[in-house]
Amino acid sequence: TADSKTSLRIAIQKSGRLTDKTIELLKGIGLRFDDYKRNLMVKCRNFDVELLLIRDDDIPEYVQDGVCDLGFVGANVTAETGADVSVLRGLDYGVCRLSLAARKDGDIQQLEDFEGKTIATSYPRLTRRFLENNNIANTNIVTISGAVEIAPRLEVADAICDLVSTGNTLKANGLEELEVILESETQLIQTNKKLSPGKKKLIEKFLIRMDSHQQAER
Ligand code: ATP
Ligand code: ZN
Repeated sequence: TADSKTSLRIAIQKSGRLTDKTIELLKGIGLRFDDYKRNLMVKCRNFDVELLLIRDDDIPEYVQDGVCDLGFVGANVTAETGADVSVLRGLDYGVCRLSLAARKDGDIQQLEDFEGKTIATSYPRLTRRFLENNNIANTNIVTISGAVEIAPRLEVADAICDLVSTGNTLKANGLEELEVILESETQLIQTNKKLSPGKKKLIEKFLIRMDSHQQAER
């Protein structure tokens, strides 16, 4: 139907740190939908929008490929995937930083000390790029998908590169933050694929609602 063609498809994190805030934002701008917790796809009742609920790691590529028109995802994830998308808005939640950290009182105390070391991370591309840009060419980057902060204690790595917000997790694991390599926040991203005039209008409408909502919040 013409309706499904112009329906905006928005990717959001199914279950995680960004989910509640994103749902709250969407409800705050007047979108009505139900049962989002049980479904992969949810149709909005009063707006030509459907939500796709997926892992945050998949969001930038889905938006890049035009499977979804918009997505709410951390800048850290978009940067790591290197997806070709446009950032429409930066949002004030999911704020964190990607940082290099090592054992407090260990033999890594500054950036130069990372030379020759093993670094565990879920962000191998960003980590490698940062080290190369800082002329640290010989490191062994080990990619692990979760619980990165315990790698040094397990002697799987000398150091880590991981997301930090309060720093409490690092502290609890005897680690010290040494270098911030990326400051991050949740972003609204848009596909760079060609959009129909109908979808462009819907996005404009969506942004107007979002902006006035954000202003009211301030
Ligand atoms: P998924 O199952 O969707 O892959 P995940 O475990 O990768 O979830 P979460 O831990 O829910 O992801 O984090 C989602 C996003 O929240 C991160 O990519 C980041 O943008 C943001 N974030 C903010 N603070 C932190 C933090 N302290 N640790 C991890 N992520 C944070
Ligand atoms: Zn993830």
